[in-house]
Amino acid sequence: MKINFLDLDRQYQEIKPEIDQAVKRVIDRQYFILGEELINFEKKFAGFLGAKYTIGLNSGTDALVLGLKALGIGAGDEVITSPFSFIATTLAITETGATPVFVDINPATYQIDETKIEAAITDKTKAILPVHIYGSPCQIDKIMEIAQKHNLRVVEDACQAHGATLNGKKVGTFGDLGTYSFYPGKNLGAYGDGGGIATDSLKLYDKLVMMRNYGQKVKYYHDEIGINSRLDEIQAAVLSIKLDYLEKWNKRRQEIALAYREGLRGYKFQKMAAGGVSCYHVFVIENEDRDGLMKYLSENGVQTLIHYPVPIHLQKCYKELGFEAGSFPNAEKACGRIVSLPIYSEMTDQEVNEVISLINKFDH
Ligand SMILES: *Cc1c(COP(=O)(O)O)cnc(C)c1O
Repeated sequence: MKINFLDLDRQYQEIKPEIDQAVKRVIDRQYFILGEELINFEKKFAGFLGAKYTIGLNSGTDALVLGLKALGIGAGDEVITSPFSFIATTLAITETGATPVFVDINPATYQIDETKIEAAITDKTKAILPVHIYGSPCQIDKIMEIAQKHNLRVVEDACQAHGATLNGKKVGTFGDLGTYSFYPGKNLGAYGDGGGIATDSLKLYDKLVMMRNYGQKVKYYHDEIGINSRLDEIQAAVLSIKLDYLEKWNKRRQEIALAYREGLRGYKFQKMAAGGVSCYHVFVIENEDRDGLMKYLSENGVQTLIHYPVPIHLQKCYKELGFEAGSFPNAEKACGRIVSLPIYSEMTDQEVNEVISLINKFDH
């Protein structure tokens, strides 16, 4: 049996008539940027999240960059974040000119260890940028308390966490801003690049709407230094359709995660925050012989990946930050042991069982 890490075509086949019709509708209309599809999607996504506003953008990375800039963060400021994430989380901080300040993760949850955040706060700290890693909610309630106590802004990286909740509230709606990616492989994925921001602040919404469109409110009059970062009409139309299926798809991911948790013997699994519900963008297990396990699974037809093999503070691009191995031991240790198993809504029970029985036969 061949089991791919992800199979987007299966999802497309499920919704093909709706998607094809929507894409055709946009092309027939010949209106591609900042039109009614985007307005519809932004309203629908805000409704789904329980946020007042959402702003459609070109990518999750842009959402993080514009979000930080809209809060006035730039050179001379420090932003506290996790070294255990996709690189874009920290790229956004350095793109604004601010300095990333890493706080190690809790090895059981893989989330930024909120009990270590206060010790990292200085006079220059302006914001906290926590990540809901793997689609599982971080302890954002406690992080908000710390932020309020120290008058810091919070931008949530919910780029893997569309629909995840903490105490019934969608992640990405706790902080000043929540950021999302609609990269094709995400739980809510476009047919190209896409991203978005959620906020309850009209002021930030107005500012971000200008910033994504060359800093203009009125054509050719530029109040802000903006960029070009807009979710296009075709992507917005695709995402509006897919949003109707997101809860159902996330439920199936949760079913598969439960099967893994109950079926895999001798493994520890990502610990959830109390009151948290994951949307299971990624499902990881740890193994001392991670590379051996991956090779064995690959030889038996199962594709796996590593999210992510190198912690951000040790990436070559950040060598000037001056971190050495041992700086954030929990993140570093996890990077050497984790492997991500296939988890997508269209996986069959037979495929899930095959992954489980193969892993249970692997010596560890
Ligand atoms: C995907 C992702 C991003 C970046 O999103 P893009 O749309 O690819 O730019 C940022 N942070 C995390 C945690 C992600 O998984």
